[in-house]
Amino acid sequence: MRYKVWRSNKDKELHLLCAEGAGAFNALPTAIRHLGPWTGSKEGEVNRLRLSYRSMLAEQGFVVIYAHASKLELETVDVRVQENTECPMCKGKARVPMHRGLRDKECPRCGGRGWVKAKP
Ligand SMILES: [Zn+2]
Repeated sequence: MRYKVWRSNKDKELHLLCAEGAGAFNALPTAIRHLGPWTGSKEGEVNRLRLSYRSMLAEQGFVVIYAHASKLELETVDVRVQENTECPMCKGKARVPMHRGLRDKECPRCGGRGWVKAKP
């Protein structure tokens, strides 16, 4: 399932998050729809949403968020990316030189990924 964010034309800091599609939008309470007119904004996968937004969306079918667009943090940050760090042996290139640099081979330290798990 995908979500879509709408921004009110009356108040640029007023955002509405609901399921994607005209059906979900038309099912919103009239009072909410009248806070618009709404302009379409971000969209994405519901299962990437922060847990609090996801549970509110499941409970009431929409979430009203009052924040500047640049401050909207709807999705959980992918922690796996942050946990990885550049491989110290190949410096992120995933290959290391061999035969005095005439050839290269897959970096044995990171297995050719270019990154290693950061130490806790
Ligand atoms: Zn490496």
